[in-house]
Amino acid sequence: MASSPFILDESYQSLREAVREFAQRELAPRAAAYDESGEFPWENVRKLAEHGYLGMMIPEQYGGGGMDTLAHAICLEEVARACAATAVVMDVHNSLVGELLNRWADEEMKARWLPVLARGDRLGAFCLTEPDAGSDAAAIKTTAVRQGDHYVLNGRKTFISNGGVADLYVVFAVTDPEAGPRGISAFLVEKGTPGLSFGKPFKKMGIRASATTDVILEDVRVPACNLIGSEGMGYKIALATLDNGRVGIAAQALGIAQAALDKALAYAGQRRQFGRPIASFQAIQFKLADMATEIDAARLLVYRAAVLYDESVRTGRRASKEIAMAKLFASEVAMRATTEAVQIHGGYGYLQDFEVERLMRDAKITQIYEGTSEVQRMVIARFLLAEAGQAVGAGA
Ligand SMILES: Cc1cc2nc3c(=O)[nH]c(=O)nc-3n(C[C@H](O)[C@H](O)[C@H](O)COP(=O)(O)OP(=O)(O)OC[C@H]3O[C@@H](n4cnc5c(N)ncnc54)[C@H](O)[C@@H]3O)c2cc1C
Repeated sequence: MASSPFILDESYQSLREAVREFAQRELAPRAAAYDESGEFPWENVRKLAEHGYLGMMIPEQYGGGGMDTLAHAICLEEVARACAATAVVMDVHNSLVGELLNRWADEEMKARWLPVLARGDRLGAFCLTEPDAGSDAAAIKTTAVRQGDHYVLNGRKTFISNGGVADLYVVFAVTDPEAGPRGISAFLVEKGTPGLSFGKPFKKMGIRASATTDVILEDVRVPACNLIGSEGMGYKIALATLDNGRVGIAAQALGIAQAALDKALAYAGQRRQFGRPIASFQAIQFKLADMATEIDAARLLVYRAAVLYDESVRTGRRASKEIAMAKLFASEVAMRATTEAVQIHGGYGYLQDFEVERLMRDAKITQIYEGTSEVQRMVIARFLLAEAGQAVGAGA
């Protein structure tokens, strides 16, 4: 735990130093090539697994690192600072699958899958979004019908990170069409199950090396014991899990923003115009000062969100508002910081050879996935209004 609310204690600081050294040595040198080819970053995933970063939040009794959400956020920030595409693979695996199973699966499912996920030799994916159900996730149409001791799943998921490359899919499906969000359930589907197939990886603006595909379910039969929690709990599980995932995406945004500041500082000191380094111009200094201030503010929000998430699991007091604030702010900061970093690089910033071009493309997704910036604002406003005793209509 942080020794002061604003300063990390030594154990987190040494974790940050270790992951920074690892990410800069192992991941950063390959980031541009993976972005260019769009090839899934298996080499990076293997390295993350070797160093225990793919099981870091899984309890030690299942072979994981037993670390908290703050430690995970610190690591994700440093991984994203080196390679944002690798960071989303890690966030989905750790938060949206590992944390989900640890929190909601029964003992048998945990004993079977958590050690496998902790070793990182099998990847996880989280399948909520559908072609007609994005921000309105409760509108999913994929169905799961009980037949004896099995469920039969039918439907199409889209935009699934780790789609096709993952071995384990958490799939949200409707078990009771009359019950609205309370009729949604969560299932574990293994790759190789007959009827489970994948679309071609989408070609994306940024995080190009992360695989994003459709996941197609045609009469996919899973044993009834693959139901996570109980029938009707799926939507609650999805929202609670997204709280952890959003801390991760906020940390990813922070890493991208920090990388942009790193590059902008270095470039501003070295690029000369009008006979002096551009860093000597106040206009450039003010940009750097604003970037650094916003990044620091975002970091504090992300750390608070991470600590509050773990507290919410212990106490049941929801932290969705503070988590949405962190995700909203950090992703907006990432977009502004990367845009300013390109500006500071002038024409060179617009070229692929300079990393800031990739960072600006990578930053954009943090405002979209795991809930758009608009959805985060809806969550924040809903809590604010409820706290103020104002009842308003439904929202995300
Ligand atoms: C690269 C990538 C990876 C992804 N990975 C995953 C994954 O692993 N698993 C998964 O399940 N999903 C994943 N997603 C899906 C992602 O979470 C959705 O794209 C996102 O939630 C937005 O849904 P949508 O694209 O359908 O947009 P829409 O919901 O159609 O939104 C379109 C626009 O309308 C706005 N809008 C919608 N409703 C409102 C409202 N009520 N008020 C104001 N504005 C509103 C949105 O903010 C947005 O600007 C991924 C997406 C991408 C692009």
